[in-house]
Parts: sequence; C-alpha cells; structure tokens
Amino acid sequence: MAKDIQPIFILPEHTQRTTGKNAQRNNIMAAKLVSDIVRTTLGPKGMDKMIVDSMGDVIITNDGVTILREMSIEHPAAKMLVEIAKTQEQEVGDGTTTAVVLAGELLKNAEALLDQNIHPTVIAKGYRIAAEKANHILEGMGKPIKESDHELLKKIAITAITGKEAEHAKESLSNLLVKAVSSVLEKKTVNGKEYIVIDKNDIKIEKNVGGSVEDSELIEGIVLDKEKIHPSMPSQIANAKIALIDSAIEVKNTEIDAKIQITDPEKMQAFLQMEENMLRAMVTKIVEAGANVVLCQKGIDDLAQHFLAKKGIYACRRVKKSDMEKLSRATGATIVTDIDDLTAKDLGTAGMIEEVKVKDEGMTYVKKCRNAKAVTILVKGGTEHVIAEIERAMEDAIGDLISALKNGKIVAGAGSCEIELSRQLREYSNSLSGREQLAVKAFADSMEVIPKTLAENAGLDPIDILVALKSAHDKKQVWAGVDVFSGKVIDAWDEGIIEPLRIKTQAVSSASEVAVMILRIDDVIAGNQGSAGSGGGQGMGGMPQGMPEY
Ligand code: ADP
Ligand code: MG
Repeated sequence: MAKDIQPIFILPEHTQRTTGKNAQRNNIMAAKLVSDIVRTTLGPKGMDKMIVDSMGDVIITNDGVTILREMSIEHPAAKMLVEIAKTQEQEVGDGTTTAVVLAGELLKNAEALLDQNIHPTVIAKGYRIAAEKANHILEGMGKPIKESDHELLKKIAITAITGKEAEHAKESLSNLLVKAVSSVLEKKTVNGKEYIVIDKNDIKIEKNVGGSVEDSELIEGIVLDKEKIHPSMPSQIANAKIALIDSAIEVKNTEIDAKIQITDPEKMQAFLQMEENMLRAMVTKIVEAGANVVLCQKGIDDLAQHFLAKKGIYACRRVKKSDMEKLSRATGATIVTDIDDLTAKDLGTAGMIEEVKVKDEGMTYVKKCRNAKAVTILVKGGTEHVIAEIERAMEDAIGDLISALKNGKIVAGAGSCEIELSRQLREYSNSLSGREQLAVKAFADSMEVIPKTLAENAGLDPIDILVALKSAHDKKQVWAGVDVFSGKVIDAWDEGIIEPLRIKTQAVSSASEVAVMILRIDDVIAGNQGSAGSGGGQGMGGMPQGMPEY
C-alpha cells in the first residue's frame, strides 16, 4: 500500500531548503568569501578596490565597510558579515576590515574542528568562553590616555591614515584632526564621575577639489560649499540672525500640470503681478522676523533673490539636509518649513557669516556660532576620487580619536595586540579540558590572522614573520609587531603605531558573535523571492550574487 502514501508539503512551493552540514558549509563558505574580499586591503600596505556601481560611478577605496556596502551582497550569511562591518563603523568608526577578517578566520578554523567531528554547539560554546576571556585580556593590556596627551592622540590619527590616500600629508592632517576633536570635546560630571562627551556630528568634513592635501584647514564653525546666490548681496554679515528654511522660496506650482490660457495681455500682467506679490510677501515675512541670513534647503526664485538682495540679506540655496541639521545645532535656529510660521524665535545666531573664495569656488563660512563647538575640516585634494578617499580616512581617524578619549584606553597595533592576545588565550586554554579547549585554541589561532595578513599584504613571508613575532612575545615583548615597511619585528608602541582599545574589543566581540551565530545554523529555509529564488541554484545555499569569482 506504500504507493498510496501522499507526499506531505509543509512549505510553500519553490521554497528552498538546505539542511545540516550542507547549510553550515554553505554559510561558512559565503562568510569566508566576504572576508577574503576585504582582507587584501588590510593595513598600510593593503591594496585598494575599485567599485563601479550600476550608474557607472566609480569609488576607489580600501575601507572595509565602504567596499562591502557598495557591493550589494545578497547571500544571507555573507550579509551577516557586512553587518559586522557596519556595527564596527557605528560603534568605533574604524577597524571594519579587521572585524570582518577576524570573523572569516574564526569560521575557517571552526570548519577544521567540524571536520574532526566536533559538534558545532561545542565550538560555539568554546568561542563564547574565548571571546569573554579575550575582552578581559584586552582590557588588561589597554594603557590610559587623556585629552591632554596630544602626542599620543596625534599618533592615533597617524596610524589611522597611514597607507591611505591621505598618507603623504599625515603630519598636517593629524594635527588638524587632533585639534578638531579637542575643540568639540566636552566634560560632563554625572554622579561625581567625570565623562568625556564628544559628538561626531560637531565635526564636519567639507571637500574642496583643487589644491593639495597639505593646504587642508580647520575652521571654527561650519563651512558650506555654497555661495551667496546674488552678486549684490553683502559678502559678510556680522551678528548674523539666521533663518533655516527647508522649503522652496518660490511660488508653489500646482500639483498637477495645469495650463492657464491667457488671452488678454492685461491678465498676463495681473498674473505676473500676483506671483511677484507672493514672493514679496515671503521676503517681507523673513525681514519682519529679523533675519539677515537665509539658508534654504530648496530653491530660491530669481525674483525672491533680487528682493532678498535689496534688503541686504545674505542667502544660499540648496543647502544639504545634513548641513541644515548641523546649522540648527550650531546656531540654535529652528528649521522652518512654512515661511508664514517664521518668527524671531526661530532664528539662530552666529558672530560672522561670510563668503570666501576657495580656488574660485564660493564657500560660505558660518563662524562664531552660538554653540561654539562646531568645527569644519576643509579637505583639499587633486581630484574627486582622491578627496573622497581622504575623507573616509579622516572619518576613521576621528572615530579612533573619539573612542580613545571616551574609553580612555589605547593599545599598540601592527599585529602586536593580536599576537599577545593569542598567546594569552592559548595559555588560558590549558586550564580548560576536553573539546572546549580545542575551540578556545582555534579562537587563539584565529587572532594571528591580523599580523599574518598585514605581512602578506606587504609582500612579506607570513610564516617567518609569525614565528619571529611569537618568539618575541614569548620573551615578554608585549608590543612586538610587524613593520610592514621594513619587514622586521618592531616595538609597535615605541614606533607610535597606536590604536584605541575599543577597535580591538569591538572587533573581537562582533566577529565571535557572528561566527557563533553562523555555526549554530543547521537549516536554511528560503521562501520564493521572485526571480532570485526561482532562478534555480541561486537560493540561499548557493553562491552569493554579485560576488567576484575566485
Ligand atoms: P581597518 O579597516 O581594520 O581599520 P586598515 O586598513 O585601516 O583596516 O588597517 C588597520 C591595521 O593596520 C591595524 O591592524 C593596524 O595596527 C595596522 N597598522 C596601521 N599602521 C601600521 C604600521 N605603520 N605598521 C604596521 N601595521 C600598521
Ligand atoms: Mg583603519
């Protein structure tokens, strides 16, 4: 009677399901692929990637999170690695490649244990124990840093930008970066304890194509890459009263395209007069509120420009939304949508607003803001691509400086921290028994991927370097790291290769969390997602889309 038994479907048609080892291996494979993509960019000698998006725009970068974000990765397990990079970026602002490479290595070493028939749950448990211990060890290694340690702070900035486009101007840029971060730093006392508060948003990076990187400068206040819209407007306004408006100063168009037939020339005149009156009313409203500067997120009608100029008001149009928010914070202005609602209370203040010509390009400097903390780093450079990459390196450095100051602890880089961590973890694993010990050892081995990759990317022999590093660490040279330029073992601390502790703790935590999560998946059930799912073989267990071939 067996042939009468009907198959039972509990899942919708076209659902793809991979289970057990297959699911696990597929996920691990995808995650390793992601980490392989970014690993060649790690460190000062890392290579760059050129990414061309669907619009044909080109990005050249070696910033881990930027690469992964631009690649539009689709495989779900691969996406989890992209998430690590994003978290790292949010929490610390740097170390995105490190975090992804670590996760890839943790999974690779877990795979070796799976091959020895060790159950994923055991590996997961061992990894969790190891991650906790690792953070403990790292905390112990961290050295204190204060906001007055300018030399150390400068070294952190230099470490972040070494090997990036910004490198040849690292002296001047690191000075700017430290000054910028120091000037927006605030101290708060909560329950008798002093905290350092720094808001990344108080530091604006503005780009200016043309000129050389060395000419980049720090401006106290906010710089907008907008010029005044009318030549007869004043170029300078002291004691500025600023209106921030996020709607167009134009006569509103009707929602639907309407045709108005005017047969009589007088009616035409009346129509134009009406438009003029409306614009005039808007400008009057601005004048009545007491504003002498208008910064508008949208367009400003030609006629309105003329009226504003006649009233001696300085105006810019099409100011970026993010800048409007910064301006609001810095000047205390409320962003107003309807000009009819504008009152004196909505206006912000700044000691000086002026138009400055930088390489023929008019820029608006908003200085001596009510909230004096806002600063702008005006980055100059030869081309759009170069400046964009410098900006990314500067953002990494700002993230590093902020997390070093907030957390108050730093370590040395160049792989020294990871090798020491690896050594201490291995020592600790001896106190454990059985299979967990193997997992903790695998975790310890995984840490070596950082110095190994730094060496590989510099064209050095990774095995030789690892042996030399390990023997130095066995001799208690805690900060022995790899000099990617000379290929020798150096004291990374003495060489001034300094990074915030948070880079390391965050990378270890999120890499291990994701590795554990991926290891624990033994079943992948993918619903039919239109063409992607029904394409056959392109389901969840398959190769991620958009990945280069290996
Ligand atoms: P991430 O995205 O992880 O920040 P980077 O490409 O910025 O990747 O590389 C960071 C790594 O490079 C860190 O491990 C850091 O210690 C190392 N590093 C930075 N400067 C040097 C240097 N001068 N010599 C050797 N290693 C360095
Ligand atoms: Mg970095």
